[in-house]
This record gives sequence, C-alpha cells and structure tokens, in this order.
Amino acid sequence: MVKRNILLNPGPATTTDTVKYAQVVPDICPREKDFTDLMSSIIQDLTEFVDTSGEYTAVIFGGSGTSAVEAVISSAAGKDSILIINNGAYGKRMCDIAEIYGLNFIEFKGTSYEPLDLYSLESVIKENSISHICIVHNETTTGLLNDIPAIGKICKKYNIMMIVDGVSSYGAIPINMKEMNITYLAGCSNKNLQAMPGVSFVIASKDALEQIKNISPRNLYLNLYLQYDYFKRTGQMRFTPPVQTIYSLAQAIKELKKEGLGNRYERYSASWRTLIKGLQELGLTYIVPVEHHSRLITSILEPDIEGYNFQDMHDYFYGKGFTIYPGKLDDCNSFRIANIGDITSQDIELFLKFLEAYLNSKKLC
Ligand SMILES: *Cc1c(COP(=O)(O)O)cnc(C)c1O
Repeated sequence: MVKRNILLNPGPATTTDTVKYAQVVPDICPREKDFTDLMSSIIQDLTEFVDTSGEYTAVIFGGSGTSAVEAVISSAAGKDSILIINNGAYGKRMCDIAEIYGLNFIEFKGTSYEPLDLYSLESVIKENSISHICIVHNETTTGLLNDIPAIGKICKKYNIMMIVDGVSSYGAIPINMKEMNITYLAGCSNKNLQAMPGVSFVIASKDALEQIKNISPRNLYLNLYLQYDYFKRTGQMRFTPPVQTIYSLAQAIKELKKEGLGNRYERYSASWRTLIKGLQELGLTYIVPVEHHSRLITSILEPDIEGYNFQDMHDYFYGKGFTIYPGKLDDCNSFRIANIGDITSQDIELFLKFLEAYLNSKKLC
C-alpha cells in the first residue's frame, strides 16, 4: 500500500494503487511491437470514450494538458480569424497561446460565474470571418460549465470548426464529438482519467486533420498533423513517449471502462453534492450557480474570519493528507476544491469535518 493522499486540487488527482503500480514494468524500447500495439489500443479507447462514429482519432503527445491545447491551436489555425472565448484563466491561456504564435484571433470575453452571452457571440460571428471557435468546456477557474452543445449548434450554422479544451471535463462529463459538433478536443491523463501526469491528447476529426496538412508547421514537437501522420504511417510515436506513464494510463483506462463513464460522473457528482451541502452548513459561499456547475471543481469565497490565511489552512490540511487549492479569480478572494480522482463522498465528509474544526479554531482565537 502506498500512503493515500486525498488531492482536492484540480489534477493530478488521487489514483488507485493499481494505477500507481502499473508503471513498474520491464524496460522496453517504445519502438517495439509490444509497445506500439499498446499505443494503438490506447488511441482507440481514448477516442471511443467520446466518439462512436469512427470519424475521429486521438493524437497523443508527451506533456501536460496545456501541450494538447497548444498543439491544436498552433496547428489548426489558418489565415482566417479564430475566436477564443475567454471566461476564466484557462480561456485566457488559449489567448496567450494564440498571441505567442502570432495568430489572427478575436477574444470574446465572459465572466467566470455566469453563462456566456450567446446572442452577442453570434453577432461577433456575423461581423467577422471566423474559421474556428476555441472554448473551455469546464472552466477550471470556478467550475463554470460552458454550454458546448449550444456553441456547437452555432458553429454548425456558420460552418465554423470548434476547438474544445476538455482537459478538465474529459473522462467525467459525457461528450459526443459528432453530436456536439466538436472538431478537436484536448484532454490529458492526470485529471478525470485518474492516471499519472505526462500524457496529453487531442481527439480530432480525421477530415480536419487531413485539411491541416496544408498549413505550414509553426512548431516541430507540438505539430498535430505531423504527429498524426507519423503514427498513422509507422504505428510509432515520433518522439520518445513517457513509456511507464503510458502503462499506467492503460490501467486507468481499464478502470474507467469497468466503472463506466456515466457512473464515474455520478460518483463525482455525489461527492460534489456532499461538498456544497457541507459548505452551506458552514456558512460558506460558492461562486457558480448549481445549474451551470460542472460538479467537478468548486470555487469558494474565503471565509470572513480574522486570522484566516489560505497558506495556513492549506498547511493544516496537508498535514492531514488533504491538498486544497488556491483561487484564480482577479476580483475576489477564493479557494478551490476539486472532487475528482479515486475519492468518494466519505472523503469529502471527512474533509468537511476538518474544515469545520479548522474554522472553529480560528473563531476561538
Ligand atoms: C488542468 C487544465 C489544463 C492543463 O493544465 P496543465 O497545467 O498543463 O496540466 C488546461 N485546461 C484546463 C481547463 C485545465 O483544467
């Protein structure tokens, strides 16, 4: 048994021991058939979680979630404008990527605690020639769930491709690429998939991948088409993959299939309901209304108690094997609790007990 820590940060998440130990394998060169067969089956499984049509495939990179987001934005944008929806820190990150690559982009802003104004989004689309819309699915800043099906309908109407940062939604929130009209979806190993950090991927429409062949590459390692094409031709990764991490990912995929995607989201949702009920009982305020909530991460206003300090609260919890996470909002002081990973509502109940004890100890001083 490895010491079990409860990670309430938004990934890497708490993993099972079987996933941890799956990394311990005999050394192998990733160009061996045994390994390339494993890669092929991972690509198939990652695709099948979000697609049943056969029109999509997964393109894998060694790197954290941001590498998949950067790969797709830098590789798919052409000469026309892309529109990037920024309603939180992760939407802002996509703007930073577009800026660094010198892409032609329009930023569409929204707040991190209320749904997007789709009416004004549509008017911006009408006034400009836009090839792609980039949007975060679950805005990890607050847990605001962006309405991907609605944006997908708008994309269909105006013949726009949609790039979704699904890094914090993939593996929990049910996604159907074709029905939702998603062209590209970025994900990673270490959040709802409950695997180790180090693998990121883009689930992409094969048609779209063939089209971007003609865009001259803006990078080498993160180029989506080159990565896709090399694997398609050779069955191998272009560059050294994180071999042991991939073995643990295969085990994590097995465990997700066994649990079922719907059941996993239900388990996470049950933890979340326990969390918000407990927060209410403690008099704490969470930021996003429940009807727009992803139920995966909750942003909470810092308690109005003299002597409160996030680092002190963090250290208190860390000593008890729990990790909590700082906020990322500019206009108010908040902290975040994620309820993903191999945890249950019982772990959240224990967390709430400790939280109550911590807050009471502050009130007494
Ligand atoms: C976690 C996350 C990422 C990736 O962050 P890394 O630090 O690269 O792991 C990207 N987008 C969203 C929405 C995320 O939650």
